[in-house]
Amino acid sequence: MASITYWLLLAYIVVALVWWFIALQRQNHQMANYKISELKMDDPAFQSKYMEIVDEKRRHDFRNIGEGSIFLVVILIASIFVYQAVRRQIRLQHQQENFMMAITHELKTPIAIAKLNLETLLKYSLSEEKKQKMLQATLQETNRLNTLASNILVSSQLEGGRYRTAKEELDLSDLIKTAINDFKNRFPERLWQCDIEPEIDINGDPLLLQILVNNLIENAIKYSPKESLITCKLFQKNKTVQFQVIDEGPGIPEDEKKRIFEKFYRIGNETTRTAKGTGLGLYLCKKIVEDHNGHIRVADNLNRGSNFMVSFTVKHTHEQ
Ligand code: ADP
Repeated sequence: MASITYWLLLAYIVVALVWWFIALQRQNHQMANYKISELKMDDPAFQSKYMEIVDEKRRHDFRNIGEGSIFLVVILIASIFVYQAVRRQIRLQHQQENFMMAITHELKTPIAIAKLNLETLLKYSLSEEKKQKMLQATLQETNRLNTLASNILVSSQLEGGRYRTAKEELDLSDLIKTAINDFKNRFPERLWQCDIEPEIDINGDPLLLQILVNNLIENAIKYSPKESLITCKLFQKNKTVQFQVIDEGPGIPEDEKKRIFEKFYRIGNETTRTAKGTGLGLYLCKKIVEDHNGHIRVADNLNRGSNFMVSFTVKHTHEQ
């Protein structure tokens, strides 16, 4: 609706401008013709007066063409700006609607599952093994809720400049190892290959870095087949610390590689869309990495899948 109104308005403005130009030109011609008809043929200055009128008409022609084209160019440039702004706004609105739908789903599902599991545990006396399984499943759902809640809270705080980063010298190797172990417990059926260089220290905010690592690993799990390998690497080369999460999923198409870091952006591809999500994870990862003066990008994994690479620069170097 907004775009129809926009095009109609723009068409109206351009037509009005053309109309104004034609009317002005016609008036100019009529004026010149009238002045010429008023000239007396036997006037000795006829020739020079005639030339003066023709000159004046030509000057007015140029002025009208000049003014008209400047006006047209200004209108076209302004309309391009407005069009881009409106499109951006509409896209954001769509993404926000999707986000709201996704978030409602993401919030309700774990709550519903956890509630059902706890009710079952209360009502029936189950075998120890079943109980364990149910508690494990409930814990997994509450973990999902926890990630979601931190993602939403921290992104809104980082955006509003309200998040106070608590940077400290920390052992990134330890932080990543702990996160991986948590995932190994939550997803015991997955295959892992971890190559974490020990004792890599960086100056960072532990909560933010944890969110970063969790989001990247969670995506690798979410977007790759159950039996495929997930590789995590942490190493330091000179003053650069690099963390990589590599999966064997569908990978990211070339033209989406930048956009996936935008807020609420999710690839509109059926295979990835079946996975639940909000489009906040990678946006937050980028914000966190930038907050630590680092860099995040995604490349293709050699055979299949994607390789998310985060790099930080450290002030001191470790003795190798
Ligand atoms: P969410 O996972 O909640 O949708 P993210 O911001 O984490 O949001 O990711 C944005 C989009 O990038 C995802 O919707 C998905 O399409 C794509 N994506 C992220 N990680 C991967 C991955 N490891 N493999 C394939 N696609 C991915």
